[in-house]
Amino acid sequence: MSDSEVHLDRYVRQLRYPPLGEAGQRRLVASRALICGCGALGSVLANTLARAGVGHLRLVDRDFLELNNLQRQVLFDEDDVAAGLPKAIAAANKLHKINSEIDVEPLVADVDHTNIETLLDGVEMIVDGTDNFETRFLLNDASLKFGIPWVYGGCIGAEGQTMTILPGETPCLRCVMQESPPPGTTPTCDTAGILSPIINVIASLEACEAIKILSGNQDAINRTLTVVELWDNRIRQVKLDALQRTVDCPTCHRREFPWLTGQRGSHTAILCGRNAVQLSFPDRQALSLDALAQKLQGVGEVTQNRFLLRLAVGDYLITVFPDGRAIIGGTEEIAEAKTVYAKYVGS
Ligand SMILES: [Zn+2]
Repeated sequence: MSDSEVHLDRYVRQLRYPPLGEAGQRRLVASRALICGCGALGSVLANTLARAGVGHLRLVDRDFLELNNLQRQVLFDEDDVAAGLPKAIAAANKLHKINSEIDVEPLVADVDHTNIETLLDGVEMIVDGTDNFETRFLLNDASLKFGIPWVYGGCIGAEGQTMTILPGETPCLRCVMQESPPPGTTPTCDTAGILSPIINVIASLEACEAIKILSGNQDAINRTLTVVELWDNRIRQVKLDALQRTVDCPTCHRREFPWLTGQRGSHTAILCGRNAVQLSFPDRQALSLDALAQKLQGVGEVTQNRFLLRLAVGDYLITVFPDGRAIIGGTEEIAEAKTVYAKYVGS
């Protein structure tokens, strides 16, 4: 959209805030961001940044909607669940109604080392709406390698934390957490539950950091690891300045990017709180959902839309995307999920 077409008046309450101002708003309108994950954190992030007028939002999410998402994923409603839509698509539909003057680019995909560089093409920053450390360490690698700022955020129970990473200037995620916690060792929203207010708090902190960075106000960013616990009423700000000197961070000091090169990370994931496993195959060619639907006739109950095919068979709910990726519901065993995939979708 050209400068003369931009309706700055819709942002008048925001641009009257002196540290942002009209100049900051114009930069926001011309800015581009990647929102990685469009679930709980991601829907608050997308909602806030779309309303604030960030000119181009690229939304990437691998999952589809379920009824139990509505407790905390504020962009979605029961109609979206009934339509069986992927979250990225449902989010983009809603965001278009909220602000039709920005570009929203939804992508139904799993973020991994094979696609992250493409996903970052042309964006000025990354905001974290993911639910797992594997993806966050990949984002951290990509951020430092390509010099793109990112904001980390995560929540569990009634607690959440966030930090902002400016490559080369502030400590990175790996300075703070040397290793991605092994699967199964950290609480998940399956085991610890999640209260929606903490998501709104953490995502709002993240969104404000994004507004600062995208409007050219990097000096105002929060340089602490901020931890908020809403049930026990605690807020902590951990100073990080000393970390860059005291921690021998392989990412910051030796520019090692093992998640970005694919040495770390995997293509299978047990999905948090879902009793489901995701299988993805980065080298696989696209598959035809129509052909698969024909093949599965009589096997079980098949439903299909433009974005995915779903097969309910026995205790399993198998969801297949056109890129061959699948989410096997009904198990948290990777081996069992692979067997089910091979049986019904094919290898
Ligand atoms: Zn570091």
